[in-house]
Amino acid sequence: MGTIVSFALYTDGDGKAVLKELGACIEETEAEIAWRREESAISRINQSAGNPDGCVLPEDLQEEFIKIWQISKNSGGALDVTIAPVVRLWNIDTWAVSEEEEILEAGNFLPVETELAEKLLFTGYENVTIEENCIFLPEGFGLDLGAVGKGMTCDRILAFLEETKETENSVEAAVCSLGGNILTYGEKPDGSPWKVGITDPFQTDCYLGVLTLTGTNFVTTSGDYERYVEVDGVRYHHIIDPQTGYPANSGLRSVTILSEDGLTGDALSTACFVLGSKEALKLAKQYEAEILMVTEDGEIIMSEGMAEIFQAL
Ligand code: ADP
Ligand code: MG
Repeated sequence: MGTIVSFALYTDGDGKAVLKELGACIEETEAEIAWRREESAISRINQSAGNPDGCVLPEDLQEEFIKIWQISKNSGGALDVTIAPVVRLWNIDTWAVSEEEEILEAGNFLPVETELAEKLLFTGYENVTIEENCIFLPEGFGLDLGAVGKGMTCDRILAFLEETKETENSVEAAVCSLGGNILTYGEKPDGSPWKVGITDPFQTDCYLGVLTLTGTNFVTTSGDYERYVEVDGVRYHHIIDPQTGYPANSGLRSVTILSEDGLTGDALSTACFVLGSKEALKLAKQYEAEILMVTEDGEIIMSEGMAEIFQAL
């Protein structure tokens, strides 16, 4: 997934065996949703673009896709997983692995404006039809689940952890971190709460503050510091405004969402980043999620529930 994954587990059973299974759970999800993998469900869907028969949607993706398309609609298209042709043009997925110099030297950094405008014609979640177990993509379209994949993986990790209850390797409590996506699970044996740090987007090796949480929670952050390239003092980051095809410029530097499931949290963090603070507060409320935003002026804007559990450092 192009990120660092870490776990802390509390179990009286065989922790190493649990870790191995958790690794397999992540691997399985990635094999299903990574567009680069030829045999993945997403690749098959992308290859079917333009086919009037559509493509069969695997059962476990059906519910998730309905959720994603609902959030796309409720965010006015700020979240749009059909943004793939634009994301490819920007070469966003190479940013994490290449040196900045290489990207610039390759002369492939800033897309040509007319090309970008052309790619935008092949995007738009509303042009995709989902019918029970079938999805229909128009010709030239493609899906990129980068904005929701880690959240979906966290949901599957939670399901796996719950299943361990029936086994000898029952996990009592856990905290899992997939890049900006954190899952806290259960209660720690000593009864102390979970503490989740929020990265300071102005100084990414420092925390802005800490959330104090009990039980199972999903905390998802999207920020302009995760993947970016700076050219002539302008920061080009990996969250694209689907209306313009350029990195979102809504006055925010990061958005953190506290939600009851991982997919919703991940989808909302991206959508809210694109929308800007005013619309973001409304969207989060609609989903009964708590939100914390850091503006480019360094201001912290929070929903009421978030303010109750946030402590500045
Ligand atoms: P991160 O991957 O750092 O957690 P996000 O969850 O915000 O960040 O997802 C960003 C990724 O999603 C990008 O790398 C790109 O592949 C894709 N993407 C960018 N902009 C959008 C958008 N507006 N809607 C849907 N997907 C997007
Ligand atoms: Mg996201």
